[in-house]
Amino acid sequence: MLTNKEIVDAIHQMRAMYPEAGTTLKADTTFHFLLATILSAQSTDKSVNMITPALFTRFPTPKSLAKAEPEDAEPYIQSLGLYHNKAKYLVNAARGIVTNFNGQVPHTMKELTSLPGVGRKVANVVLAECFHIPAFPVDTHVSRVARRLGMVNPNATVLQIEKRLKEAVPKDEWLDAHHAMIFFGRYQCTARNPKCNKCPLLPICKYGQDNVF
Ligand code: SF4
Repeated sequence: MLTNKEIVDAIHQMRAMYPEAGTTLKADTTFHFLLATILSAQSTDKSVNMITPALFTRFPTPKSLAKAEPEDAEPYIQSLGLYHNKAKYLVNAARGIVTNFNGQVPHTMKELTSLPGVGRKVANVVLAECFHIPAFPVDTHVSRVARRLGMVNPNATVLQIEKRLKEAVPKDEWLDAHHAMIFFGRYQCTARNPKCNKCPLLPICKYGQDNVF
C-alpha cells in the first residue's frame, strides 16, 4: 500500500498532467448544480450538460420543480439512463428543499443526504463546489485509480477510500485532488485498456506492472 507521501506525490503528478482539471458540469445556481449532480449518476457530464439548459429554463427554482410531477420532468431528461427514477429524485429533492429548508439548498452532509437522490458522493460534490466546504467526493474514477495504485486495498469500500484519501492529502488540496483523480481516471487509467505503457506512475503501480509485463 502507498504511504501518505506516495499518495500525495502521485496526485501531484496527476495534477501536473491535467492542470485544467475541474468540474465539467454546467449550472447557473446551486439548486441547478445539485440537479445536474443527481443526473450525472451513471451518465457522463457531457450528456448531462446537453439536456440541462432546457430543464433549468423550465424549472428555474426549487418551488417550480416542487409543484411539478415526475412525468413533467421526464421529457427533459429522457436521453439519460434511469430517467424515470431520476425524474422522481429531482422532483422529490425539490420538494424536500421547499418543505424542510425554506427553499434553500442546505449545506451540511446530514441535511443534503436527507434529500431523495442525494447520496454521500453528490453531497460531497455540492459541499465542495458550491459551498467551498472541504470534501473529497469519491466517484467511479477516484475509486478505480485509488484501488489500482494501491492507495487502498483492492476491496476497499467507497467510504474507506474517502477516509484514506482524507487522511493522506492536506485538506486544502482535497478538491483539486478529487478533480485530478477524475481526469486521470477518465483519460489515462481508464476502466478498459488503461494506458499503462505510457503512465508516469507505472514505477509505483503493481496493477500496471502486471498489466504491461
Ligand atoms: Fe492506471 Fe496503469 Fe497508470 Fe497504474 S500504470 S495508474 S493501472 S494507467
